[in-house]
Amino acid sequence: MLTLARYSIGVGDRFAHQAKAQLRACMLAAERGVEVVPVWNKSNREHTIIGSEPAGVRAAADAAVRALGWTKPYHVDADHIRLETVDRFLAASDFYTIDVADSIGHPAAPDAVRAFADRHPELAGRLDIPGAGEPFETTRADVERIAGKYLKAVQDAGAIYRKIAGAKGEGAFITEVSMDETDAPQTPPELLVILAALADERVPVQTIAPKFTGRFNKGVDYAGDVRQFEKEFRQDLAVIAFAVGRYGLPTNLKLSVHSGSDKFSIYGPIRRAVAETGAGLHLKTAGTTWLEEVIGLAEAGGEGLALAKEIYAGALAKRDELCAPYATVIDIDPSKLPPADVVNGWSSEQFVSALRHDPANPAFNPHLRQLVHVGFKVAARMGDRYLVQLNACEPTVARNVTTNLYDRHLKPLFVGS
Ligand SMILES: [Zn+2]
Repeated sequence: MLTLARYSIGVGDRFAHQAKAQLRACMLAAERGVEVVPVWNKSNREHTIIGSEPAGVRAAADAAVRALGWTKPYHVDADHIRLETVDRFLAASDFYTIDVADSIGHPAAPDAVRAFADRHPELAGRLDIPGAGEPFETTRADVERIAGKYLKAVQDAGAIYRKIAGAKGEGAFITEVSMDETDAPQTPPELLVILAALADERVPVQTIAPKFTGRFNKGVDYAGDVRQFEKEFRQDLAVIAFAVGRYGLPTNLKLSVHSGSDKFSIYGPIRRAVAETGAGLHLKTAGTTWLEEVIGLAEAGGEGLALAKEIYAGALAKRDELCAPYATVIDIDPSKLPPADVVNGWSSEQFVSALRHDPANPAFNPHLRQLVHVGFKVAARMGDRYLVQLNACEPTVARNVTTNLYDRHLKPLFVGS
């Protein structure tokens, strides 16, 4: 079976120009003796907005790996796919993030729920999961209620998995199941039911993305109770280890943290939990690299800076349209967004200071950063004009992309300072 390494990082590359700069960050980690495998992820939504194809992600990844002589594994992730969107990814991807969030809460057939509860009497009663703290008490009615909420989603994951396996062959790809884009975090008993059901469906899930407590806004720090997050994260690790043994799921099954870039305040707790338990981790990032492209353009000055300002002005003008699809993962206070004519007067340093995620810099503006995060559509509409500038400013862009991924992500999470 194609297996995912213990540590991996999802590196989205919206315009398919930064694969080398991203891979360099993984090479810096490798030089420190830590293997973090790059996974180039791009969702159907991103492809649609940019006007790109999954084959382009594969080509960029392969070219970067060849150019830099990377000999460790790497993967191409069909991110957040569903039954109706998976087809275009079948040739180019070897990693599939099966998104079943939309199916959560769609009730499963009552006889399927009863059959699940009959098959799993061990899920009702006292659940003593090593490492999860206090035992959980559940009743058969709880199990049926949870199965009622999640079984349909797991059945849908099974159908998508079988479609991919039919095309690519069992064991030829890595399976992730995601349910992060939903309203409420999954409790430990819910996660256990989900994993038992995935095992029943024979989905060889290697990484699972639950919804965690708190806000995972795009491109900015975690907003929530860090201690509560740490407690729940450790419970999730314990449930996964327990489910692997109990239900025969792949032994490398690990948590995937989506919208995982820039969550600086939880990297310490995650690193400690992973190190203490020996667990693996997949951290999925995407837009943080696009933001570094804009930072690199601005830092280059001249036409690069002018284009960065144009992107901001365009995003500001189309704020409602750009923010709508991301409503649950951004928190922008419009009164904190500087007007376009003010930004047009900024120097490179002023623009970079507002946009770069340096919480210690008083000029850092998380509202502006989140708006630019969802503003990649503006750059996509510029077409070649954007790509030409990206190439012209390559040295500053690449340096920012690599530094961001390595210093602010791989180092605190995997390497240590
Ligand atoms: Zn996600």
